[in-house]
Amino acid sequence: MKKDIRSLTFEELSGTLEAMGEKRYRAGQIYSWLHEKQVSDFEQMTNLSRPLRQKLADNFFLTVLEAVQVLTSKLDGTRKYLFRLSDGNVIESVWMEYHHGASVCISSQVGCRMGCRFCASTLDGLVRNLEPSEMLEQIYRMQEHMGRRISSVVVMGSGEPFDNYDNFVKFVRILTDPRGLGLSARSVTVSTCGLPDRIRDLAGEGLPVTLALSLHAPDDEKRRQLMPVANKYSIKEVLAACDTYFEKTGRRVSFEYSLVGDVNDTEEEARALAALLGKRNCHVNLIPVNPIKERKYVRSGGAAAANFKNILEKSGINVTIRREMGRDINGACGQLRRSYQEERPGKVSL
Ligand code: SAH
Repeated sequence: MKKDIRSLTFEELSGTLEAMGEKRYRAGQIYSWLHEKQVSDFEQMTNLSRPLRQKLADNFFLTVLEAVQVLTSKLDGTRKYLFRLSDGNVIESVWMEYHHGASVCISSQVGCRMGCRFCASTLDGLVRNLEPSEMLEQIYRMQEHMGRRISSVVVMGSGEPFDNYDNFVKFVRILTDPRGLGLSARSVTVSTCGLPDRIRDLAGEGLPVTLALSLHAPDDEKRRQLMPVANKYSIKEVLAACDTYFEKTGRRVSFEYSLVGDVNDTEEEARALAALLGKRNCHVNLIPVNPIKERKYVRSGGAAAANFKNILEKSGINVTIRREMGRDINGACGQLRRSYQEERPGKVSL
């Protein structure tokens, strides 16, 4: 069976090529075509002989994503991409412009099985995991389309990255390899609904990525109403794993808290959250919830959000309200894919 060549780490690629009888230095050349120049065809690897290019095409396949839709915000240049995978599934990615450079938000799975109540990505459950190549390709094709290099990545699109842990870690290893795109691990943020074992595993990988934990409630009872995963792990267990992550990597953890009107945005809840986080060196990111038509949740009012933020600030916690990017094209996570599928029933699968 042909191997997915863009999903191989440098070491795996070298080993595979050597086993095929190729010289050592070939791995460096090919890896650079795949991850530095980010080619879409073996034929573009012009410093390789024609027979070698043919040999690669016989033994490997090259994953390339095709953009089927690109929405551009007229307000701030944010772009939402819908990419088609080779099996016909579609996924979303976002390009965002900041003062310090461009940041992209990528998906880690097609769909999701975590079931968070306010999230559109999980409504139809998990379809499948993304391969490392499919996570990388979202970045490579957006860079190609924009003609620019990115400066940071957030894994906050559809999917639970820690439910696809091995592929996620491989993705980060390839992304941060200086022989490829060479992004610093510090420029990568991974967001999780909170799987303590995987948080501890990541702390031991030697990859100092920023960890963002989706908290969304200050106590287990409220969290269970919003996030089914809270039935499995208590906040205490998850925070203990986050503390380990901080101790081992020195990376300050971010806590995400989606503000849902009349659900988790009262002053008592702000105070409870401040007490819960205590003296931790952390950052809280408040996200006014993005309403989805399948659920009744509404965004907190501006005054409630500002009040919530003030209470946290007064307790000495670093807190920001997430700036909304691409307001005019800003369907919530997973909504572009859903609307594409609803418009084209049956046309998505090839
Ligand atoms: N599975 C990962 C990544 C999810 S998306 C996780 O759970 O963290 C990134 C963040 O957006 C998460 O905090 C998620 O809970 C939140 N989110 C998802 N849908 C949202 C919506 N409609 N409004 C506001 N935040 C949402």
